[in-house]
Amino acid sequence: VVDHGQPENSVVTTCAYCGVGCAFKAEVKGDQVVRMVPYKGGEANRGHSCVKGRFAFGYANHKDRVTEPMIRNSIDEPWQQVSWDEAVNFAAKRIKDIQQQYGQDSVGGITSSRCTNEETYLVQKLVRAAFGNNNVDTCARVCHSPTGYGLKTTLGESAGTQTFDSVEKADVVMVIGANPTDAHPVFASRLKKRLREGAQLIVADPRRIDLLNSPHIPGGQHLMLMPGTNVAFINSMAHVIVTEGLAADDFIAERCEEPAFQQWKSFITEQRNSPEAMASVTGIDAETLRAAARDYANAENGAIYYGLGVTEHSQGSTMVMGIANLAMLTGNVGREGVGVNPLRGQNNVQGSCDMGSFPHELPGYRHVADATVRHQFEQAWGVTIQDEPGLRIPNMLDSAVAGTYKGLYCQGEDIAQSDPNTHHVEAALRNLECLIVQDIFLNETAKFAHVFLPGASFLEKDGTFTNAERRISPVRKVMAPLGGKADWEGTIALSKALGYDMDYQHPSEIMDEIAALTPTFSGVSYQRLEEEGSLQWPCNDETPNGTPIMHTDQFVRGKGFFAITEYVATDEKVNKRFPFILTTGRILSQYNVGAQTRRTANVDWHEKDRLEIHPHDAEDRGITEGDTVEVKSRAGQTVLTATITDRVQPGVVYTTFHHPESGANVVTTDNSDWATNCPEYKVTAVQISKVAEV
Ligand code: SF4
Repeated sequence: VVDHGQPENSVVTTCAYCGVGCAFKAEVKGDQVVRMVPYKGGEANRGHSCVKGRFAFGYANHKDRVTEPMIRNSIDEPWQQVSWDEAVNFAAKRIKDIQQQYGQDSVGGITSSRCTNEETYLVQKLVRAAFGNNNVDTCARVCHSPTGYGLKTTLGESAGTQTFDSVEKADVVMVIGANPTDAHPVFASRLKKRLREGAQLIVADPRRIDLLNSPHIPGGQHLMLMPGTNVAFINSMAHVIVTEGLAADDFIAERCEEPAFQQWKSFITEQRNSPEAMASVTGIDAETLRAAARDYANAENGAIYYGLGVTEHSQGSTMVMGIANLAMLTGNVGREGVGVNPLRGQNNVQGSCDMGSFPHELPGYRHVADATVRHQFEQAWGVTIQDEPGLRIPNMLDSAVAGTYKGLYCQGEDIAQSDPNTHHVEAALRNLECLIVQDIFLNETAKFAHVFLPGASFLEKDGTFTNAERRISPVRKVMAPLGGKADWEGTIALSKALGYDMDYQHPSEIMDEIAALTPTFSGVSYQRLEEEGSLQWPCNDETPNGTPIMHTDQFVRGKGFFAITEYVATDEKVNKRFPFILTTGRILSQYNVGAQTRRTANVDWHEKDRLEIHPHDAEDRGITEGDTVEVKSRAGQTVLTATITDRVQPGVVYTTFHHPESGANVVTTDNSDWATNCPEYKVTAVQISKVAEV
């Protein structure tokens, strides 16, 4: 630890890692941030932080930062440093040439949940206005797109229902497919406090998460289900609640669509959805499941928190709807202490989705086929917007492999490392004739790029992030962008080179446009954020002070909708050749693909991705702690170091994906959620074999 002495200045800003959205004071000396101090006035963190956030400034000045724009004619050539003008003109000419040759729809863009609301808004605007198509998608595609679909279908809004404060009123907390201690540490602290006060914990997860290991939290139930069986589990929970007469009948009669509920009730009460029938699928003992269902249903306030262990499945959207069904069934929506709470992985997943980064939706989750909404944007932007949805990320990649998709603008997202089936992704990227990467590091995706635009870290720009509780918080510039432009300025430069002028002097003007065009944001402005610190959307004339709890009197869609959630087994089947299921997760000190955390002073940054194996399976295969193990799937193979632990059950192995050399996504497959194409990262059939002893 370097002692930098007294800081000269401090700036309050928002952490750029996870969806908790902690506020920090960035302390500055000269042109360097020397310390990040958790800010007591931050509504999401109240003066707390985790190890990632405290050290986050480390990567901003890392020697690996690329600060000059670069171009090259082909990916076999060395990079050539050029001015910003030369870089964007080179990119614009290529994009135009591609569109001339292959058609208007042969190019597109990907926004990042690491960037600000204003920046993602501009990228989708560039794609729609300057490229002239709807081929824009966000990295939320590969994490929480099923949340958007599932919650909009059932409740009417693609967002979590609560504020983080709400957990303090919960009596029973069900955590499904999430590991808050590692992935959302500051929220986990608040949750643990409530559990220490006596709230009951139910965890549904294929792996024993740390929350269950705390000696100060007595009696947590662990429903250790098999990966890929979430929907079977949630259906059997609902079956118990209905058949044992534990449903909130008055709430359902008043707040939910009657015909849909009756249809769903007939489905859910079928014997095949009982815990006894589903036990052989989920692996959960029927009586244990019945007890958990009774506890949740009988709670005065039952809250559900879930993560990527819910969404990253072939039935991710079905499971999100199943969770919403369960909350409505028990009346656990619309007040403090309850709700359906997606724990968002990245800092601005919620925001990037809100900002219209989807190929089918304009800002505020309004479909591109809605002529009235489209007309509003067309008037404001002076262009015609296509009325058909564009390509999702997996469609872009497939089309690139097929040779019909040729140009991509990728801002702040490393799809070569983070998307599944690396071989397929690389084949797609190799086929592009213009890949523009805008990032702070020369990441894995940039290996296939023709244009590199230097990105700016969260410390180098103004803007806003929106966290998992829909809280819009300011991001404030602490130091000048090392590459000369913040990301939003880079997008404007590219757009101008393409012939479409965007005239903004500051991100506050972009937010003013967002507010003017998006009803849920109409009460948001930088002035109010300065005065009030943060705002939770919807924030408009009806709810001028923002909305901590949604769906209080009625659901956003009017009546709540019970969706039929038929369990369908994943295609990723175990067999003699691939007898194990690989599932994936995160560790506390690392963040996603690790591009930032691996370049900070986190004490554990060097901790490698390892393969967890149950002792029985390890013994069967002669594997001991520290051995090198080959993991092979239908998509590819990699090599990892073994850790023997009963945190996983027999037949299941587990790893993290923070280091590119570990190659977890070389192994994961193209399987994806039926509704949104969110990849099924959590279920991959693999074989394992020892290749070297420790
Ligand atoms: Fe807070 Fe998440 Fe940042 Fe940790 S990583 S400081 S929990 S926002």
